[in-house]
Amino acid sequence: MTKSCSTEIKFSNGQKIPVELHKVRMVQKLHLKPVEERLAAMEKGGYNTFQLNTKDIFLDMLTDSGTNAMSDNQISSMLRADDAYAGSQSFYRMEEAVREVFGKHWVLPVHQGRAAENIISQAFIKKGDVIPMNYHFTTTKAHMELNGGEVLEIFTDEALKIKSDVPFKGNIDIKKLEGVVEKYGKDNVAFIRMEASTNLIGGQPFSIQNMREVRKVADKYGIMFVLDASLIGENAYFIKKREEEFKNAEISEILLLMCSFADVVYFSSRKVSSTRGGGICTNSEELFMKMRDLVVLFEGFVTYGGMSVREIEAMAVGLYETTDETVISQSPSFIEYAVTELDKLGVPVVTPAGALGCHVDAMDFLPHVPQSEYPAGALAAALFIISGIRGMERGTISSVRDAEGNDVLADVELLRLAFPRRVFTLSQTMYVVDRVNWLYKNRELVGGLVFTDEPAVLRFFNGRLKPTSDWPTKLVAKFKADFGDSL
Ligand SMILES: *Cc1c(COP(=O)(O)O)cnc(C)c1O
Repeated sequence: MTKSCSTEIKFSNGQKIPVELHKVRMVQKLHLKPVEERLAAMEKGGYNTFQLNTKDIFLDMLTDSGTNAMSDNQISSMLRADDAYAGSQSFYRMEEAVREVFGKHWVLPVHQGRAAENIISQAFIKKGDVIPMNYHFTTTKAHMELNGGEVLEIFTDEALKIKSDVPFKGNIDIKKLEGVVEKYGKDNVAFIRMEASTNLIGGQPFSIQNMREVRKVADKYGIMFVLDASLIGENAYFIKKREEEFKNAEISEILLLMCSFADVVYFSSRKVSSTRGGGICTNSEELFMKMRDLVVLFEGFVTYGGMSVREIEAMAVGLYETTDETVISQSPSFIEYAVTELDKLGVPVVTPAGALGCHVDAMDFLPHVPQSEYPAGALAAALFIISGIRGMERGTISSVRDAEGNDVLADVELLRLAFPRRVFTLSQTMYVVDRVNWLYKNRELVGGLVFTDEPAVLRFFNGRLKPTSDWPTKLVAKFKADFGDSL
C-alpha cells in the first residue's frame, strides 16, 4: 500500500479543512421534506428518532453502525464469496485479516458486536462478578447484567467534563481499578474491559500509556483483559495524533500494539470495517475453547457465525482498510470541523472532538428542560423537525429504571450526530452546523418529553414519547417565520 495521509488538509490560510480523499461513484438520492411533513413524521414516530422511516430523513446521523460507505474493493470482494456452510474460503480470508491486523490467531465470527458480548459474558461472567471498565456501552451492560455481572465504571475525573482539552478522556483510572480488585477480590473480577473511542461519553479515546498500566494491573492479579475494538481505528488515529511517542508510527503498528495488551479482543464490524458482522479473537487456545461452542449454539457454524459469506469477504477487506490513515481519519476530521465551528458559535459540544460523532450537550443547550423530561431526547426530536437531520439521544432515555421503577438520570445528556465514514460532504456538514446553531438561538422554544409507551429492556429503541406541551408547533411556526418556504 502507498503511504496514506490524514483527510485533514492544511489550507493556505492556515485553516485545517477535512477534504474528501475519495470520489463518489454511486449515489443515493435524499429527500429534504417540508417542515410540516417532518413534524408529522416525528409525531408518528413517537418522538423517538429510532422510529423514523428514512424516506422522511435528509441527513441520517443516527449512527455509524452499518452505515459507513463501503469501498470499491469491499464491494468487488463480495463477488468472490465462497458459499459453503462449513470451511468457506471467505472465512479463512477473514481469519487471515484478523491475524494480520489485530495480531490474534484464534478467530470466532459472530453476527454483530452484541453477539460477541453475549458469548463473552456467558463464557466468563459468573453471578456476583464485577466487571470494571472505562465506561459501559448499552448492549454490553445489558448482556453482562443478564449473566449476573455488575458493571463498574472507573473512568478518570475528566471523562464526564463536557469542555476539556484532555486528549484521552477514555482512560481508566488506575487507582480506582486497583481499588476495585482490592475491594471485591481478584476472583470476583470477571475481567477488565476497555472500550476503544468510548462511545457513550463522546467517542473519547484512551492512550497506549493507559493500556500499559491496565495490563500491569491485570498481570499483577492474574485478571483477564478484554478490549472492545468496535471503534479501534479511530482510537488508533487519536493515539497517533495526540500521544507524542506515536506521532511517526504507522496505524498498523498502533493497532497491533493496542491488541497485544488484551487477552480477548472483540468487535462490531458494523463500525470497524464498514460492513455487517463482528468477531472475537485471542491468542489463547484455552480462552478460544471456552467460547467456541457458544458460537455454534447462538450464531451459526464457526466459519460463518450468522453472517453471509459476502459480508465476511467485505469485512476482511474492511479490516485491512482500518490500517489506512486516509480511511480512519475521514470521520474524525469531519467531526473535528463540526465541533470546532459549533464551539466558535458558542453551542455547547463535547471537546476535544472525538470519534463517531459530534456530541451536543443537551443539559447546557436546554437548561430549562429538567433531566426527568429527557433534554437529549427532546433536542434530537427538535433538530429533526427543523432540519431533517436524524441524531440519537445518548442520555437518560438510553439508561434503564432502577428496581423501584425510578428513572436513573444519566451522567451526561448528549445528542449524538454521527458521522459515518465517507457518507457526508463538507457542505452537508455546514448545513448541520447552521441548523444546530439556529436551534440554539431558538432554544427556549424547545420543551420536554414524557414516555407514553416504555419497554422494560433497552427502552430507547422501541419506546414512544410525547411532548410535554405544544412546543413543537411553536417551533415550526418560528422556523417558517425565519425561513419562509425554504425547507
Ligand atoms: C456498536 C457497539 C457495540 C455493539 O455492536 P452491534 O454490532 O451494534 O451489536 C459494542 N460496543 C461498542 C463500543 C459499540 O460502539
